[in-house]
This record gives sequence, structure tokens and C-alpha cells, in this order.
Amino acid sequence: MNVLLPTSTAGSLPKPSWLAESETLWSPWKLQEQTLVDGKKDALCLSLHQQQLAGVDIVSDGEQTRQHFVTTFIEHLNGVDFENRKIVKIRDRYDASVPTVIGPVSRQKSVFVEDAKFLRQQTDQPIKWALPGPMTMIDTLYDDHYKSRKELAWQFAIILNQEAKELEAAGVDIIQFDEPAFNVFFDEVNDWGIACLERAIEGLKCETAVHICYGYGIKANTDWKKTLGNEWRQYEAVFPKLKASNIDIVSLECHNSHVPMELLALIRGKKVMVGAIDVATNEIETPEQVANTLREALKYVDADKLYPCTNCGMAPLSREVANAKLNALSAGAAIVRQELTA
Ligand SMILES: [Zn+2]
Repeated sequence: MNVLLPTSTAGSLPKPSWLAESETLWSPWKLQEQTLVDGKKDALCLSLHQQQLAGVDIVSDGEQTRQHFVTTFIEHLNGVDFENRKIVKIRDRYDASVPTVIGPVSRQKSVFVEDAKFLRQQTDQPIKWALPGPMTMIDTLYDDHYKSRKELAWQFAIILNQEAKELEAAGVDIIQFDEPAFNVFFDEVNDWGIACLERAIEGLKCETAVHICYGYGIKANTDWKKTLGNEWRQYEAVFPKLKASNIDIVSLECHNSHVPMELLALIRGKKVMVGAIDVATNEIETPEQVANTLREALKYVDADKLYPCTNCGMAPLSREVANAKLNALSAGAAIVRQELTA
């Protein structure tokens, strides 16, 4: 990136109300068949336009073509039965009805590559594409075949690597893997989670990122956050191994969280997407609040490695709120950019 403090979002942005229910996470589509295909493309263009209006430097598709950040990917795989559902606890937090792995998993065809090519056609700006991480994928399924979390995650890592290589060829600049599960299953992350992530990025020449957050602003997550105490030190358990990994960028939740900023010192040398926008409130950050979060992060992250970002996706917010938050992100980054170059 040529720009100092390039801004981006963690991933999802609100969908237009003609495509999906507003302010509703994982809403069903309102369109069908070809109108849905066309509608998703139109929504992607709108989402891109909104990011550009707000001055976001690294843009994305706003995840307009997916209903869910994990299951939309899994729907395209062999070996998973969506009819045969089981109730499991997601990240040890909330019950969800999930599909069952009934045989060897494999990718039938590209999942997001056509969407990525379409986004690439719309802009010359750097683009980031989010994929689910292997550990978060296995946590969103019931496994009746491998009966080993590690083995299933490894198989998903191989599939993700195939998809990532095609995304790279389509011109994606940064491929991000969403791993909220890294904040929960520390022993497994260190035993095999990071190894699976490295398998997923094997051979890639584009930049790679891992997004580790405390989740969307839904009740199950905000209730869980209340149990975490005054200091959230979850990152401490996985940062040392992550620092030693080949991943280029780490995307984190910071503003309004209770993560002690000094934990960022544990990944010094990595590029860090610092969450300076809280996605769990409708309150709009002031540019000065954003700037403060970035200044705090600059104590532990070199300026050329600091990427101002949102804490997580903004899909459940209204478009007005999300746009205002994007504007605040840009304005806050501009303040600190000015200070750094003065
Ligand atoms: Zn997130």
C-alpha cells in the first residue's frame, strides 16, 4: 500500500432492503433466480460505491453475495448434507441448527471467484476478499464423517487454498480468513489451528490476513462479552504463534473492547488491522475517537503497518449508521495521517 494508514472494513456491510431484510443478520434473500443473481451484483456495486464515497482505501464486496460468512461457502462443497441438521453450540456460546458432514469434503467449483472478478472490474483500488477460516468452519458444522476436528479443519484448509489461489488469480490483493474461533479454542489454535491457516495460504503471493474478533453485535455475543471481565486477554494466548506464522496481516477488535492495547506488542512485525469502529452500537464514533484508538495502537504497531479498520462486519447495522461509521473511520485516519506526516 502506498497510502499511510490505509483504511478498510473487516468484511460485511448492510444489504439494500430490496435484497434482504434490513438490520437482520443472515436474512433470507428477497429475490429469486436470475433477479437474485442480478440483484447481488447491483448490491455489490452499491456497497463499493458507498465505501468509495467514504474514502475507504482497501475496498471489498461488502459480502453482498453471501447470506452467511461460513455457510454460504459450505453450501458449495461436497460431503455436507444441509437437510440433515443438528443443533450444536457455536463457539461454546449459542445453539444453532447446522448441516452435517456425511462424507469426504471437496469443492464442486469456485465459490466466490466470479464475484471477485466482477468486483475487480469495478475498481482499480486494492481489494480484500474474506473467506471463513478452517477452524471457524468446523465449528459451524456437525461432523459425522471424520469425527476429528483437526482432520476436518485440515481438509477445509486444502479447499480454502484452492479457492484462495483462484481469488488471487482474479486480482484480489488481500485474502482474509475469518477466525473468530481463534478467540475461544486456544489449545486447538496452537496445536493445529494456525497450522491449518498456514495450509490455507500455502503458495499464495498476494497478501493474507486473519480476522479475529469478538463477533457481531448480536445478543449471544454481547452477553458473552459481559462474562469476560475487565481485561480481555484472549489474544495473548494465540499471538506468539501467530507472530511466527506466515500470515501477513492480523485484523483485531479494539475500540470499545476491553482488549489491553499492549497485547499488540506480541505481534510486532505483522501488519495490524486495528478495529477503531465498534459494530455493536448505533452510536457513531467521532473522528477524534477513531484517532485516539489509532494513536494508542501506534505505541505498539509501526506506522507503516497500521491499517485502520472496523472491529467486525457491519451487516446487522442500518445503512445510514454503517455509512456514518465509515466516514468517521476515514476522518479519524486522516487526522493521524496528518500528524504522522507533519
Ligand atoms: Zn468479526
